[in-house]
Amino acid sequence: MKEKLISFIDKKLQRFDPVWLAENGLGGQRTRYRDDGSGIARYREWRGVEDTFQDYVAWLKNVGYMGAMVARDPVKVMKGIWEYRWMGSFLGSFAFVDRIYEGYRGRELDIANIHGNAIVRILTLRIGLILHNDKRLGGGEMTDKMIGLDETIPPLFTAGFPTLNAEPMQTMPEFVVCDVDQHLDPYYIDVAESYGLAPDVCSRCSAETGVAIDDAFPVFGKLVLSTNQPCNASEATSMFQRRRFRQKGIEDYPFVFAMQHNTKNGNDYSREELRQAIEKIEEVYNVKYDWNALFEKAKNMNHQNQIELEKWEIFATPFSPLSGINESLYKLVEWALVNGHDEYFNEIDDKVIGIMRQAVRDQYQPYKGKTRHRAFLWGPSAMYYTDFPTWAQNCWGIDIVLNMDSTMGHNMINTEDPEQALTDLAKFSEKGVMRHHAVGGWDNVNAVWEWANRLNCDMVICNDNVACKGMNGVHALLEEQAADLGFDFLFLPHDLEDCRTIPRKEIRKAVNDYMMIVKGEEPLDATLVDFDDAEAW
Ligand code: SF4
Repeated sequence: MKEKLISFIDKKLQRFDPVWLAENGLGGQRTRYRDDGSGIARYREWRGVEDTFQDYVAWLKNVGYMGAMVARDPVKVMKGIWEYRWMGSFLGSFAFVDRIYEGYRGRELDIANIHGNAIVRILTLRIGLILHNDKRLGGGEMTDKMIGLDETIPPLFTAGFPTLNAEPMQTMPEFVVCDVDQHLDPYYIDVAESYGLAPDVCSRCSAETGVAIDDAFPVFGKLVLSTNQPCNASEATSMFQRRRFRQKGIEDYPFVFAMQHNTKNGNDYSREELRQAIEKIEEVYNVKYDWNALFEKAKNMNHQNQIELEKWEIFATPFSPLSGINESLYKLVEWALVNGHDEYFNEIDDKVIGIMRQAVRDQYQPYKGKTRHRAFLWGPSAMYYTDFPTWAQNCWGIDIVLNMDSTMGHNMINTEDPEQALTDLAKFSEKGVMRHHAVGGWDNVNAVWEWANRLNCDMVICNDNVACKGMNGVHALLEEQAADLGFDFLFLPHDLEDCRTIPRKEIRKAVNDYMMIVKGEEPLDATLVDFDDAEAW
């Protein structure tokens, strides 16, 4: 009876389902959007009774997390929105979640919402904590027990200071928020350039510098660990940020990793740097490093990595309901922000791997079996076009099986011997965000082909950040290799965090041209080929 009723309603309302519209040549994903570039939809995506209900429950959960953040300290949250331009951009979070999971159904949607809820939960907890303890907003009980970390430093080692709290400095004001709102970082980039800085640097580094000059970093802690990761542009921006932190009375300590990979000398050097950073924190906060506390959280990280290795096996099959932005955004947050500190993420991993194992047993066909190409996405991605993988699947049936960032540090950390744990953590740091591939030397860049083969991909899409000097140097070599090895290969031009240089529409055009001219294929959803979203979040 229940099935009959659901099927009756599904049939009645299918004209609002963009996937059904595209399948029947009556419209598609863009049909429900206003035609003015604003990215505002006239109504929510109808996915059939069961999926729409499941999606609505997940939406309510997100509302709950956001409400809880405000309820914990409404005054500081309001002050934060008043004080920080970037806080306003987080208001686009609901539109963001809808956008990145557009077209998802069934098990893809299940995992997407499990991941989406976990991401919103951790971000609201961390934003709430930062605002509550921000000296500028009055401070809180943890204000002097917080450590600022450059966001590219893997924070696992700070678990050895269980009475302190380490927060990545740039993640909220500049990095993650660019995923949510493409129009925020151009403001900070303009601030940096109007200060007289060169406009041809990586826009991520430029935006971070702009946040510093605009005095838009929250103020907490006694110490900030700056770093040279992942590249020379980051070294430069660290210098500007350090000056600003010092002006706020926060000491800075340059945490300088070896820029060599997989060498004993480099690993020895990074291990000693790590040891000295720990000693510096002990000195500034007058606390002793607790190895057992580190080992506890390292076990979480090892568990995460064990599951990750199993996921990679499943990604190699055609049955994975986890891919695209659903995979990479969760991995980025879990690795760079959580990094073993929060057991809740281990529970999420257990739940998701359970769904994936079942999908393999059932020989499940993700995306209703419409995938035509399996692609590996290489190089630093456009932060302002987070939903690119979703678009690629919905428009052309290109499933982004894995993203370069998702291959971050996956070596196990020793949980008994402090010396070995330090060595493992140093190795772990070599595979930080962007670090090992974009600037990690030829062997690391060249690993793309091994990855693409291992995951049974027929296509490699190489993100081409026009200001990433490291990757710009290897264009011709990559093209030659792709031709020799027989991969479909295309460069995706973008300007990382500046949506004005190469707007989303132009990024899509690079794929459209390749698919139509080189491959001679027809789109799955014609409404997605050419549309304007320049004004959207
Ligand atoms: S995209 Fe390239 S230039 Fe920019 S931070 Fe990453 S490695 Fe450095």
